[in-house]
Amino acid sequence: MTSRRRFIAIVPLLGATALVRAQAPAAPVDPKDPQAVALGYTPDAAKVDKAKYPKYAPGQSCGNCALYQGKAGDAAGPCPLYAGKSVAAKAWCSAWVKKA
Ligand code: SF4
Repeated sequence: MTSRRRFIAIVPLLGATALVRAQAPAAPVDPKDPQAVALGYTPDAAKVDKAKYPKYAPGQSCGNCALYQGKAGDAAGPCPLYAGKSVAAKAWCSAWVKKA
């Protein structure tokens, strides 16, 4: 195979790889991550320590937080406070702000 043919055969593969990477979901936030610990990130809002976070009210979750960037119905999505990671829609942290 000539190098030109090889190049032509490889280019679509590189494109497909880039497409797969672009669509791959971000890794979930590790609750032990220092930022997550500082903000009390809890993957399941029902398990928030209410004594430690009295601001928490049942029903609050990432899915209805103004900072959540996932689509409605998604199990997880991005949050600007955790760049490059995804937060669970049912999670919560102390930076929660009611979605307008
Ligand atoms: Fe979830 Fe909002 Fe906290 Fe981000 S700021 S982790 S979306 S509760």
